[in-house]
Amino acid sequence: MTQKPPPQVHIETFGCQMNESDSELVRSMLKQEGFTFTPDRERADVVLVNTCAIRENAHNKIYAHLSELKGLKNQRPLVVGVLGCMAQNLKNELADKEPLVDILAGPDAYRQLPRLLSRALETQEQGFDQKGFALDLSEYETYEGVLPDRDSGVNAWITVMRGCDNFCSFCVVPYTRGRERSRSPEAVLTEARDAAARGFKQITLLGQNVNSYRHEDWDFAKLIRAVADTSGIDRVRFTSPHPKDFPPALIDAIATHPTICKHIHLPLQAGSDRILGLMERTYTAKDYLALVEHIRAVIPEIVLTTDIICGFCSESDEEFHDTRRMVEQVQFDSAYIFKYSERKNTIAARKFADDVPDRVKGSRVSTLVEIQRRITLERNRRYIGRDVEILVEGDATRSSTQGMGKTDGNITVVWDKGADPFEPGTVVTKRIFEASAATLYGE
Ligand code: SF4
Repeated sequence: MTQKPPPQVHIETFGCQMNESDSELVRSMLKQEGFTFTPDRERADVVLVNTCAIRENAHNKIYAHLSELKGLKNQRPLVVGVLGCMAQNLKNELADKEPLVDILAGPDAYRQLPRLLSRALETQEQGFDQKGFALDLSEYETYEGVLPDRDSGVNAWITVMRGCDNFCSFCVVPYTRGRERSRSPEAVLTEARDAAARGFKQITLLGQNVNSYRHEDWDFAKLIRAVADTSGIDRVRFTSPHPKDFPPALIDAIATHPTICKHIHLPLQAGSDRILGLMERTYTAKDYLALVEHIRAVIPEIVLTTDIICGFCSESDEEFHDTRRMVEQVQFDSAYIFKYSERKNTIAARKFADDVPDRVKGSRVSTLVEIQRRITLERNRRYIGRDVEILVEGDATRSSTQGMGKTDGNITVVWDKGADPFEPGTVVTKRIFEASAATLYGE
């Protein structure tokens, strides 16, 4: 009697690095239960879509993607699972209105996936569909004991904490990923050693609010130093922090440990105190500027990047100009600039009207993008004529005759490979001869 081949799963990941990291956990747990994975959606018995709920844009992308899957499911048996923040946030909508979806699983419920998938495949074989949901949020789940099944490459993501307690009024994360909980330092360090043993050269520590990490007497400064001491690891990064959690010990660790990258992503969100108050960000523009000044005094070469939301509820022209002035004053190295997009169930959606017209939001984004592009170009030009160390990642996107890598400050560098030895994961030094707002060019 021939044995039935194991079910093949295809997983597609949208959104942030936390989702990338979660997909690696999902792969690991499913492989342990005998599932196999295929990069080819057409051959899969199960398609899992790991989703993001942070902006309207992300939702629309995922809905468009689900309609593509409808075509596939009409042709042959297929189990479709929606994972992640959108599954958690739009559970009723997806469960009732998307007949295509067989499984919904939120970020704290992935241990239930093997059981849910086996059940869905079984019932499908028997000729009927039975939906399966796992959407409980947990105060404890950190996937302790699950070693991620990582994509090969130069960088390994390591999640150090999950969830968020900050409840910024615009943000859906506390509702989709639950309360903050940190993993034990032993578990994080075991993963770091495992990543080094498998040839990864860079570790990025992840958390929704990564620098609020706390486990017994370990804080984030102590943890990042210990990870950076891992033998075989050349660079350690972290994302995403909150400005309220930057004690001097953390700034000192970044300044003094040679393996910790001199790059801080410091989300500003807005430059007006009234808007920061409505956003419940817990700092004022003055606090933020004082932090930037302190960081730059201790780490003069620091690369600072940020996130900004334009057109939050009731933001006036003058308040937008406060943000504009902050951007000019801080001189970020780069910035992610977005239109405010109301998210269901958030404090802002319940308390405030999303009353800035879309046209005004769009024009504020364009204004700020233009200003930031000029600043980024000026800041990138400072590297011209300087030698920079680059961690080689692979071929440049546009040409396989060019190499691509990142500076310690996370700025992209490309160069002609020529006859030089070229090995992803090595650190090379290049002299910068040209700079655009997106890239440095080395020789
Ligand atoms: S810190 Fe604020 S923006 Fe960041 S995940 Fe938590 S609630 Fe969302």
